[in-house]
Amino acid sequence: MNMRAARYSGPGKPLSLETLPLRPLKAGEALVRVKAAGICYTDLHFLSGVLDLGIHPLTLGHEIAGEVADLSGASSEVTVGDRVLVYYYATCGRCHWCRTNRANLCPQVVAEYGFTADGGYAEYVVVPAANLVKIPDNLDFAEASTLGCGVTTAIHAARTIADLRIGETAVVYGVGGVGFGLIQFCKLAGARVIAVSRSPEKRAKASQLGADAVVNGTADVAEAIRAITNGEGADVVFELVGTEATMTHAVNALRRRGRLVFIGYSKDLFVASPLQLVIGELTVTASVGNTFDELLQAVDLAAAGKIKAVVDRRVSLDQLPATLEALRKGEIVGRAVVTFE
Ligand SMILES: [Zn+2]
Ligand SMILES: [Zn+2]
Repeated sequence: MNMRAARYSGPGKPLSLETLPLRPLKAGEALVRVKAAGICYTDLHFLSGVLDLGIHPLTLGHEIAGEVADLSGASSEVTVGDRVLVYYYATCGRCHWCRTNRANLCPQVVAEYGFTADGGYAEYVVVPAANLVKIPDNLDFAEASTLGCGVTTAIHAARTIADLRIGETAVVYGVGGVGFGLIQFCKLAGARVIAVSRSPEKRAKASQLGADAVVNGTADVAEAIRAITNGEGADVVFELVGTEATMTHAVNALRRRGRLVFIGYSKDLFVASPLQLVIGELTVTASVGNTFDELLQAVDLAAAGKIKAVVDRRVSLDQLPATLEALRKGEIVGRAVVTFE
């Protein structure tokens, strides 16, 4: 059997739509008929080479929702026909990091779907059956796909890394798929949320999802945040952009004992004054990916209607390159999702 897939051939090269043979399943694997694959900004980092794992040709796409089409061996979790979401890390399960519920840091990752192994920009994907989570009835495939990275990465950053507390002020600096997840999760966690974006559409959506204040990204962001916080600054700034200008504003916007959490990045270097860090007892930290447990929490919150998926548009696989370009230009509010019939 064959399938259509959008293939990545390395930095600086366009994606190519190809027809590929499906490989046979190994023991414990599931064949998933992809119904929706969310388009994450990370894919643009692959195409530009800001992120280069050196593995290609490869099918990108790590926010994957679909239907179980086949199973190799028994699975206690799912059966053929189930609507499922893919946890995109397959890790060793034996190292210190896997054993302490930090599998996102496993140094012996077996496969990371859409990063080091073929992902969801294809009609089918093969993953371990143990990586599948059932989709709640109130979500369609496109909505469910956005939980896979957007919402789950937000939960990891806000709770596990930032240890966000009730009453704290959190800045979501850059409002894309993860940013909208962060705004909602930080509100649920009892924080006051300030969202920063250059786009009026994204600021409006941020307010609609509960942000207490919004700041135009073209303004003096640090000054605006100080004004909103009576000169105190923010307890936590989630940095989702990572350019020289935004990093400077982010540090300057911190309250004493504030935590800067990097999630986004560019090629720019982070330069900070140690004196400024010392005087404020500031913490600079970072957040990568998520754990299986956090995916289950994201699914539970979405099932309960407490976190909403923000789907900007649904496109075909053929429209993927043009949609990535729209994402690069900042035209996508939330997630664009590739959907399959
Ligand atoms: Zn992602
Ligand atoms: Zn491991």
